[in-house]
Amino acid sequence: MKLIRYGLSGQENPGIIDSNGDIRDLRGEITDISGETLLPSSLDRLRKVDIGSLPRVTGNPRIGACVGRVGKFICIGLNYSDHAAEAGMKVPAEPVIFMKATSAVCGPNDDVVIPRGSQKTDWEVELGVVIGAPAKYVSPENALSHVAGYCVINDVSERAFQLEGTGQWTKGKSADTFGPIGPWLVTADEVADPQNLDMWLEVNGRRFQSGNTRTMVFGVAHLISYLSQYMSLQPGDIISTGTPPGVGMGQRPPIYLSAGDSIVLGIQGLGVQRQTVVADNSQYPTPNKEIRR
Ligand code: ZN
Repeated sequence: MKLIRYGLSGQENPGIIDSNGDIRDLRGEITDISGETLLPSSLDRLRKVDIGSLPRVTGNPRIGACVGRVGKFICIGLNYSDHAAEAGMKVPAEPVIFMKATSAVCGPNDDVVIPRGSQKTDWEVELGVVIGAPAKYVSPENALSHVAGYCVINDVSERAFQLEGTGQWTKGKSADTFGPIGPWLVTADEVADPQNLDMWLEVNGRRFQSGNTRTMVFGVAHLISYLSQYMSLQPGDIISTGTPPGVGMGQRPPIYLSAGDSIVLGIQGLGVQRQTVVADNSQYPTPNKEIRR
């Protein structure tokens, strides 16, 4: 199944993609694609629904993040050896874990907003893993049975916020709109091998990233098992599994995003995201000068 959330930001409805690629309304079956609706029993029930009998969604609605109310947004750093090399860092002996604030989550085609003070906003195409069954102390052998599905993620990153000064990854990964997720959650039964998916990213029509999930240092099963030794994973949690080489920081000289740029990225079988980069024209108050950066 390809599950989708559509509608205005914060008011998304659950839907499912039919065999023609159209959205069918799932509101008669579930309230949202989030939390407990991602449990294996809930997905099994949805599989029995006659999709053709559901109302077809007309018009061209905005697509939201394919998972609502994300509990944890866990990211893995330096999980492709060739990306670690371009970042000038060693391949880690164990997965590098950091969190992205869930307020960064947005739709796959929403604008990416460059935060105030940013000069080094960058891109990262990544395979997203959505947890279905709760996982705690699971073995690598059983780990994939805890996956509800997979999706495309752009792990948008601000390199100065992330790496300069004291270097705090969560700070550099958490601005609003730094977490486009979707367009679909493709259920795990339709992804034959999560470790053999082509992935790519273009900026202004130029291909920067071309990779395949087979070159991950730590595969999906290992990551779920590893994380579950340190925290429980819950339905609707997301793991972003790291990016292949070709990020802006790795160019010589580095290339970063500016307002007006377009980003297109995708993963084999999981769909395509299209973002326009914009400046932050929000009306939020100017930050208090007393805040220590
Ligand atoms: Zn990343």
